[in-house]
Amino acid sequence: MTAKRLAVTENWRTGSGGGLVVTKQMHDILDQPGFISTRMGGERLRGMFQDQSNELDLEKLSLFAQVCMCGNLERVKAMIQSGDAPDLVGTETSFKLGFASLTVLGAQRIRSTVALEHPETLRFLLERGAPPDMLDIAGLTSLHHACTPPQSQPVLARILLKAGASPNIQNRYGEVVIFFPFQGGNVPLIEMLMDYGADLDIRDANGDSPRSLCHVYGPEVVAAVKRCERKRTGEQAPLEDKKCENCQKKSDLKQCARCHTTRYCSSECQREPGMSLASISNILTSFLLSGAHWKTHKPQCHPFSTSNTVTVKPRYENHFTTLSFSDLTREKFGLANDPNAGRRKRPTQQTTTPNTASHEPNKSMIIKVQLPLMLGAPVSPSNGSGDMLVYNKKKDFTCSIQKADNPHYDEIARVIRAKGVNGLKAYFAAELKNKYELVIKISEVLAEQPF
Ligand SMILES: [Zn+2]
Ligand SMILES: [Zn+2]
Repeated sequence: MTAKRLAVTENWRTGSGGGLVVTKQMHDILDQPGFISTRMGGERLRGMFQDQSNELDLEKLSLFAQVCMCGNLERVKAMIQSGDAPDLVGTETSFKLGFASLTVLGAQRIRSTVALEHPETLRFLLERGAPPDMLDIAGLTSLHHACTPPQSQPVLARILLKAGASPNIQNRYGEVVIFFPFQGGNVPLIEMLMDYGADLDIRDANGDSPRSLCHVYGPEVVAAVKRCERKRTGEQAPLEDKKCENCQKKSDLKQCARCHTTRYCSSECQREPGMSLASISNILTSFLLSGAHWKTHKPQCHPFSTSNTVTVKPRYENHFTTLSFSDLTREKFGLANDPNAGRRKRPTQQTTTPNTASHEPNKSMIIKVQLPLMLGAPVSPSNGSGDMLVYNKKKDFTCSIQKADNPHYDEIARVIRAKGVNGLKAYFAAELKNKYELVIKISEVLAEQPF
């Protein structure tokens, strides 16, 4: 402990140390100019920051920093009004934490039986001139802190964004904020940052951008990012949002029986809005029943037909690989040995044994078709045969499509390369006619689904 204290670099100290120490080793890495890559010691520094931040000690802070951390709105107000508060553009602790950041850190760490008012305190500080975008010595803004899993604070993040905090400020590792909710797979927070203009192409010190890395965090993150990007451009993909096309309800959804690419919560919603069955004649009734939310939906409702589908012959032997798309992508991008792998925790991979038990006739489902990824010689034994892998969300249907069995193999591959996620996988509506006939509607590539 003494040695650690001796290693303190005094010139980082401003005001109270708050229990936080910047060691000589940290200082050596931090002193390098620009963003700090893994090669420059970024991962070592990250570890040292993590260890140190556990030492943050409420009692070693100034009274004002304490009441901020505790979300004590009344005391914060009183101290500012009486002139007892320090300058709100100032910082505390050896890490140079601003008061907005201290409030966020308090919300993450302090629990009490007393009602704490962190959102109100943060809002008040920002109104009184605390800068929303102040950087601490790790280059973290209050927004970076508010979006850090596992204790992310979406309410505080929104307050900061509304007050003008930028999601595109880079920390000392060059990371913009959206990398943080990627790690926790926090879709609502990803959506919030995207709504406030998160830029997916800002590269960190290792040259990775949110766009280039989002696949590493799994299909839910990818689906959220792609959905937000389409929202920005006003594009729409089939099955974009999991909601009733008519009333926006999000549960108990059924697909349109004709096209399988539109969802409704009820047969009422499939009908034209505002029309009740009682109010219309029998002739109209039969028309509307066959039609439904028809005027809007008709132009997009393409039933399965020979012109927009291909029928393939699934294979059910041991062709299914348990290697996930994310893993393959990591390997493809040379990320398998990425030293950041530990930091970039992915959601636990599904380890359920895939089965092929579910062969109900005429089963309609959404499937994911994955192109075979050849990772150079020697070819990956799990999928060296060039089979496409197919499965549904529950994974109660899994099979492969072999080139030799299927004249439509190349056609499917072309669609995936042209319109699929990174040209490597795509989601389609499909119908399992029987065990040996899978009808895939390749005319419409569906929005990325969270599986
Ligand atoms: Zn509805
Ligand atoms: Zn339809």
